[in-house]
Amino acid sequence: MNNKALLDRSLAAVWHPCTQMKAHETMPLVPIKSGEGVWLHDFEGNRYLDAVSSWWVNLFGHNNPRIKQAISQQLNTLEHVILAGFTHEPVVTLSERLSKLTGLGHCFYASDGASATEIALKMSFHYWRNLGKPNKTRFVSLQNSYHGETLGALSVTDVAIFKDTYAPLLQQSAQVRSPDWRLAEVGESADDYALRCANELDTYLAQHHQEIAAFIVEPLIQCAAGMAMYSPVYLKRAREICDQYQVHLIADEIAVGFGRTGTMFATEQAGIRPDFICLSKGITGGYLPLSVTLTTDMIYQAFYDDSVARGFLHSHSYTGNALACSAALATLDIFETDDILQANRQKTVYLNNKIQMLNDFPIKNLRNLGMVWAFDVQTQDAQFSRRFYERALARGLILRPIGNTVYWMPPYVVSESEMDWMLEQTQALLAMGV
Ligand SMILES: *Cc1c(COP(=O)(O)O)cnc(C)c1O
Repeated sequence: MNNKALLDRSLAAVWHPCTQMKAHETMPLVPIKSGEGVWLHDFEGNRYLDAVSSWWVNLFGHNNPRIKQAISQQLNTLEHVILAGFTHEPVVTLSERLSKLTGLGHCFYASDGASATEIALKMSFHYWRNLGKPNKTRFVSLQNSYHGETLGALSVTDVAIFKDTYAPLLQQSAQVRSPDWRLAEVGESADDYALRCANELDTYLAQHHQEIAAFIVEPLIQCAAGMAMYSPVYLKRAREICDQYQVHLIADEIAVGFGRTGTMFATEQAGIRPDFICLSKGITGGYLPLSVTLTTDMIYQAFYDDSVARGFLHSHSYTGNALACSAALATLDIFETDDILQANRQKTVYLNNKIQMLNDFPIKNLRNLGMVWAFDVQTQDAQFSRRFYERALARGLILRPIGNTVYWMPPYVVSESEMDWMLEQTQALLAMGV
């Protein structure tokens, strides 16, 4: 097998995600043979630093011995069993541990982030219906929000390129101003701007709360919007406003959960507890598809009844897959035994001490939160994102700019010398001109 043979077969057989397949006439796929730590290897001896954590899922590197061992141990006893009417040790232990970490109650499982969003939306609506408020059927999200691509999740997503084509299939939802601090007025602080945005949420809910079931939000970073960061005061106020108007607060921590923003969950930085939390991506360390929606005991109790129809009858075939749960348990173990949040804080300080040099180039809004770094390149080139991606790849660095935003979201196992290398390569790319 070589690179070329595999990519030809892939183009003939695989429909790749988030891709206009015709683009691959001029932009080759990258066949990957193996991975080790932050590196991915192709069939011709080239290696690439996975600075996007394989689409934000990989936390502890490729070929991680501990996660591998947990999965293979689980393989010896039980790979999977139907979770309706049955249960198993990994799903119970994982639920107990996630509950302790989030302060929320029962865990409802699925396999992908978008499904976790769907579950939160359906549960919220169904809760109000069970309470005799069937008019609460609508949802509010932020401008530029991203919550997944299935029809329900896409309904609360606000990214035109993903959404516009499917508009006739989607539920109407409302979008309120994003607290992304790049949108603040000159002289307005991030906190002041966040509070101004929260006031707009307040105004909207004051008028519409009778038909609104929930407000869904990506806490602290709207990643798909281009790593749009915002002040935690927004979340604190949003919590108060949602309480005031009896609207659920759904925290979509699919991208930011599991330490990405510096705390285990981003909502911790606002000192709030959401009514629902959606988790996926990093939950298995990037090993197996798993997602989960947790909610409060109060919401759970509203479904607990003699009537079958008042129950939450949603399901997916692979709900609570034992192998995926074992990978998630190993991931949580690593967080504990290696004190990952503390180790990450040191990495963040290390890299932050060096990145100012990027400001010598035509960039703006150089920003960091936890293990996410981003900046916006000032360029007229409409093809910037693709061109920068290709040039980075040629140097062995995997970057996938979002519009003109370049970001790093490396696996947490990234070393100081690997961070140096990532920074040097990025500098060299900027020095080539944008
Ligand atoms: C990736 C993502 C999703 C969707 O998860 P999938 O596993 O891709 O379906 C939802 N919300 C956020 C914030 C995400 O980053």
